[in-house]
Amino acid sequence: MLDVSNLTVNEVPPAPDKDTAAADSSSVKPVDWQDFRDHIATADQSGRRKWMYPRKVSGRFFRWRTWFSWLLLAVMFGGPFVTIGGNPLLLMNIPERKFVVLGQIFWPQDMIIFAVALLVFLVGIIIFTTVFGRLWCGWACPQTVMMEMVFRKIEYAIEGDAPSQRELNHAPWTGRKISKKFVKHGIFFALSFVVGNVLLSYIIGWRELYQIIIDPPAKHLAGLGFMLAFSLLFYGIFARFREQACTFICPYGRHQSVLVDENTILVAYDHKRGENRGPLRRGQKFTERRQTGTGDCVACNLCVAVCPTGIDIRNGVQMECVQCTACIDACDSVMDKIGAPRGLIRYASLNGIERREPLRFTPRLAGYCVVMAVLATVLGLMLFMRSDVEATVLRAPGSMFQQMPDGRFSNLYTVRVVNKTSREMPVELKLENPAGSLAVMGQGSIVVAPQKLSENSVLIELDPAAMKSGATPLVIGVYSGGKKMQTLKTSFIGPRN
Ligand code: SF4
Ligand code: SF4
Repeated sequence: MLDVSNLTVNEVPPAPDKDTAAADSSSVKPVDWQDFRDHIATADQSGRRKWMYPRKVSGRFFRWRTWFSWLLLAVMFGGPFVTIGGNPLLLMNIPERKFVVLGQIFWPQDMIIFAVALLVFLVGIIIFTTVFGRLWCGWACPQTVMMEMVFRKIEYAIEGDAPSQRELNHAPWTGRKISKKFVKHGIFFALSFVVGNVLLSYIIGWRELYQIIIDPPAKHLAGLGFMLAFSLLFYGIFARFREQACTFICPYGRHQSVLVDENTILVAYDHKRGENRGPLRRGQKFTERRQTGTGDCVACNLCVAVCPTGIDIRNGVQMECVQCTACIDACDSVMDKIGAPRGLIRYASLNGIERREPLRFTPRLAGYCVVMAVLATVLGLMLFMRSDVEATVLRAPGSMFQQMPDGRFSNLYTVRVVNKTSREMPVELKLENPAGSLAVMGQGSIVVAPQKLSENSVLIELDPAAMKSGATPLVIGVYSGGKKMQTLKTSFIGPRN
């Protein structure tokens, strides 16, 4: 039989061979339902979902989180309407491959900058998580903010605190229950519709979204489909899926175990101070209690009752913990009542609790910072050197070289010019090497509208004396306002000698 009782979390037992597995199948170690490591808090013994009824919480951290969430919600809902230099604050228009961050437009041609920015973001997350754990999840993650600060509060307002909710869910379907559920889910769906539309406006822009709303439905079937899909998705998440999203879906949560270490600041239970836990006897003074060798935890379980993921923080750091601080507030309120100092559950590192060590700048953290500095420098240089105009040249598909009546040869090209600025941009193309002529077909000159791409047919003619056998390298200068913006290289195809 495989004995896993002595393994640490990082050790994996070797896979048993088929014969051993067959022999062992009758003696697989049963799940110990008393051991939190053997099962997750939100599933029962048959593997079915256990619905969480977290108790209402109040306290200083909840107050601070509430204020902060109002700020974040204002940014989230107001973001699509904020413009910088005429451009949106944030736009991730994947269908049109147009991305705007802080008013700066990034085109597919800027993908390398985008990739480096993503790397900077990821390394930033790693450093932040190594130092502060899942601070983001508890304070700023849209899932937590919307769930705990919006949907959960509505639920409390309609169905009451955890005991009333439990009672209502187990009660028969009376008129009172139906009306409460109807009102709650109606508001949940309406809010999910708003949230889904806000997300959509970050993808297509609020003007497009408004157009979808006011135009006849038949004109925007795809857009309406997305509106409905996003609304149903958010309704499903906030009405039913809830903490399961953080436990099973969120990749950030799943990676925290490889990012945190003994110096990471987390919501943690001070087991040195709290153990041995035991109830506070009537009339017992707190100081007397300590003299008997009992710790400060009075085993009231309030920290478990308020936890939205159903875990007991006294068991130590757990994957499900979203660092929401509810257990800190709950425990502080208990400590206040019994006259003990606050902070039995607090923000602390394992070393801080075990050895009373302050936060240390570890070699691992130093390594992350060096990587971050290099990437940030590269990103800064790329942004600094980023041109306002980006042009590409390709030989016109299917075209052959031609010989003109005067003996010169011509090739036809397609030149695409992207104007990354918010102003109209006149662009001039000059053939710099070898000597020859360059003409923009049709309009004769190129003027690119703000944030648009202009596609132009360009005819280049060379004298046979300037040509090499087969392919002749060409250098084309791209100018705007007399200033050279870019140099394009291509080749001119001619006859082989
Ligand atoms: S709230 Fe505090 S005192 Fe109560 S069980 Fe949790 S850790 Fe112990
Ligand atoms: S253990 Fe505490 S901080 Fe973690 S999710 Fe539960 S209540 Fe929030």
